Amino acid sequence: MNRTRINPRLAKIHHSYTVPETSDLLGVHPHTVRAWIKGGLGVLSSERPILILGKDLRHFLKVRRTAAKRPCPPGTMYCFKCRSPQCPALDMVDYQRHTDVSGSLRALCAICGTLMFRRCRYTNIGMAMPNIQVVLKEGPMRIGQLSTPLLNAD
Ligand SMILES: [Zn+2]
Repeated sequence: MNRTRINPRLAKIHHSYTVPETSDLLGVHPHTVRAWIKGGLGVLSSERPILILGKDLRHFLKVRRTAAKRPCPPGTMYCFKCRSPQCPALDMVDYQRHTDVSGSLRALCAICGTLMFRRCRYTNIGMAMPNIQVVLKEGPMRIGQLSTPLLNAD
């Protein structure tokens, strides 16, 4: 079970859920659901069983997910080993083009040396990596772009 990601869309907006139903629906412990209620998740009334409106549940989960996001500041990439945005080692960054407009930045983590990636539009490289010389690497050539004809094809 993936504990860190809960899909808010699992909650039907015209449906109401008890605590055990919410727990089953999202794959979390009932204690977690009760902690959410203490933490501000709205309930229908104070009467038992506690009912949570799907609309409120979805909204609560969306807000929670947005608050947990940590976008990488300019000049950094997310290192999965350090679990935080890190600067590239020695200011060395490669850009691998995937299409005419998009590609990904590649660099080693300055802390642990793990290879880090960051998707980036070609036109936004300067914004994503200010004051860093990014080395452009062309993607592997497509067969149609080869200048010499293939010998094993008609
Ligand atoms: Zn790292």
